[in-house]
Amino acid sequence: MVYRSGMLRLHDTMTNTVRPLGLRDAGKVSIYACGPTVYDLPHIGHGRYVLVWDVVRRFLISQGLEVTFVSNITDIDDHIIERAAEHGRTEQDVAQEFEAAWFSAMDLLSVLRPDATPHATAFIPGMVALLERLLATGVAYQTSDGVYLDVAMIADYGVLAGQPLDQLRAGARIEAHPEKRSPLDFALWKAAKPGEPTWEAPFGAGRPGWHTECVVMSLDLLGEGFDLHVGGQDLKFPHHENERAQAVGDGKVFATHWAHSGWVVVDGEKMSKSLKNFTSLTDLLVRCDARAYRLLCLQSHYRAPVEVTPETIAQAEAALQRLDNLARRFRLTPLGPEPVVLADFAVDPELLQTFVEAMENDLDTPRAFASLALAVSAANASADAGDEAAGTALAQSVAVLLASLGISLRSGLGDIDDNAQSLARSRDEARAAKDWAAADRMRAELEALGYTVEDRNGETSLSRRGPFGD
Ligand SMILES: [Zn+2]
Repeated sequence: MVYRSGMLRLHDTMTNTVRPLGLRDAGKVSIYACGPTVYDLPHIGHGRYVLVWDVVRRFLISQGLEVTFVSNITDIDDHIIERAAEHGRTEQDVAQEFEAAWFSAMDLLSVLRPDATPHATAFIPGMVALLERLLATGVAYQTSDGVYLDVAMIADYGVLAGQPLDQLRAGARIEAHPEKRSPLDFALWKAAKPGEPTWEAPFGAGRPGWHTECVVMSLDLLGEGFDLHVGGQDLKFPHHENERAQAVGDGKVFATHWAHSGWVVVDGEKMSKSLKNFTSLTDLLVRCDARAYRLLCLQSHYRAPVEVTPETIAQAEAALQRLDNLARRFRLTPLGPEPVVLADFAVDPELLQTFVEAMENDLDTPRAFASLALAVSAANASADAGDEAAGTALAQSVAVLLASLGISLRSGLGDIDDNAQSLARSRDEARAAKDWAAADRMRAELEALGYTVEDRNGETSLSRRGPFGD
């Protein structure tokens, strides 16, 4: 019997409540995630939010739902223009380089590629048409430097910020722009400046504002009333508020549920002492097992901050090692990184129910992991007590559920070279013969080769030492 309630309850920023994710079309989920502006390498904060939404997506797929996941690339903006000018390159060249860097980091993290990756520059006609409509109805107005949205025209402006318009207005920085009606009004279109890429439009040549891209691309690709709009907490206001304001101003039903993920906390001082460029995701991923970063992120609730330090990464690597040891002990078949549909596997019913209930309760991954940790202990205990079959069944269940979160266990000694493997077996023989001196010498040799050596169930267990030593 497969436990499946199929009702994910997620915090909705708009209502500030945890409520069921309603689906516009039965059995199908449409999700839009704001993607990167490609002018630099991704940082670890990017890694965290993409992992959160990758897990939401994988979880929904694991429940048998058909998910359409759209995530854009902002390939024109101030940063890209600046970077191109600094290095004497074209904007397109800069954007292509960092888009490639983005996806190679995402691939390392086993983040599923979006079903569609719209590029802002490919949707300019749709943006121009939206602005023409907003100008025609007076929701937007023209100034000498572009087109702005008049936030006073949007009845519930501030709903995502969680503050009414007058409060937002009181807190807004007063800027010297005599043509703007309110400091909160935001640019939909930036009038052409010499040397910048521009597109023709009836209201004057220029380029789109950032907030205009996502509203056009999400509605174009997912249609009105799509199910879920996600992003990092920092996008809630003003970016998401402003996306929504344009849709509302255009008389469209926008996303019906909004979810936001928490920050990454880095102890900057510690970082700079021990590591260079630790805040670059690309850099982190060459130093540690990418699965450990996923594990670290999932050990915190997605709305809570995650602390990334050499210690927390090392702890996640150690936890991962225990899980890999389980896969090794029970010689489990590797799964993933492709999405897993849970109904296709035999999973321990009790564990499945606890796990799914935790996930459905606002994606409570810490509780889901706690249930997996208990199952790991129980699997080992069963096998220790001689019930290999019960242990294997439970271990396999753990591996399936981890794969549903995008964590593939490694049961082989794939990343351990033959020399080290044969040394480990020789050490086992020495230990069996009670030749402790030889066993210790071989342990030292293995450690010198960069392996962590553990004794598990009378066997030498090897893993590659973490990037920060152990
Ligand atoms: Zn966006």
